[in-house]
Amino acid sequence: MDRKLYGKVILKGIIRAETGLHIGASKESLEIGGLDAPVIKHPVSGEPYIPGSSLKGKLRSLFEMKLHTDEGLEFNHKISVGGNIIRMHVCDSYEKAQNCKVCRIFGSSGDTNFPARIKVRDAELTDASRKFIEDGLDIKFENSLDRITAASNPRQIERVPAGTEFDFEIIYNVDDPDQLEEDLINLLSAMELLEDDALGGHGSRGYGRVKFQFSEVVAKPMDVYFEDAEPQKLIEKSGEIKAVKEAVKGKIGQIFRAS
Ligand SMILES: [Zn+2]
Repeated sequence: MDRKLYGKVILKGIIRAETGLHIGASKESLEIGGLDAPVIKHPVSGEPYIPGSSLKGKLRSLFEMKLHTDEGLEFNHKISVGGNIIRMHVCDSYEKAQNCKVCRIFGSSGDTNFPARIKVRDAELTDASRKFIEDGLDIKFENSLDRITAASNPRQIERVPAGTEFDFEIIYNVDDPDQLEEDLINLLSAMELLEDDALGGHGSRGYGRVKFQFSEVVAKPMDVYFEDAEPQKLIEKSGEIKAVKEAVKGKIGQIFRAS
């Protein structure tokens, strides 16, 4: 086991709900991306937010699917969530995890305990959106039809309305400058895939469409912290995922290797 730290890359911006986002009550299954409701309410303020684990879990599950399809990545781990068995991938040794495209970004819990290189903060309402939804959340009733008894079972669904925006922040720990560019491109690609997928369940009913807009992407090698060097801005103005990928390609590794 060997772990170094060359610095951090900080990615900030806004997640915009393009359609309603379902608000749920529990954090159960957030980590593995198998959850129904991607938004929960803060226990004290009552404000809806997207838990970092919800976003991270969804990105992981999409990236696992991609590698399962292309490279035969194994879903070797089963967990039970609310009575459902969910399969996922977890490397079973530290050394494997360190070279696994999934585990080295998202971590592997359990026996290996390889810590994730990314930390995804909880995405809270932007100030503008806090005002926007002050008038109340979008509550509607839906009928779910029991497939066997054909009994209709109305339930209340609470959502944050389309147009709501949340501030997101992802911090990437650089422990291997040679894997940095590949990791960031994979992370950004998973975010791109999520834009055409859905955050949380009910995607088939049109919930959960989101769009990312980056406001700041900054590389902070160790000399920023210990020698007053300036952080390096990778984008000059607010941009979409593609713009960040372009900014990272062929440049990002060098910034950390040189330090
Ligand atoms: Zn792995």
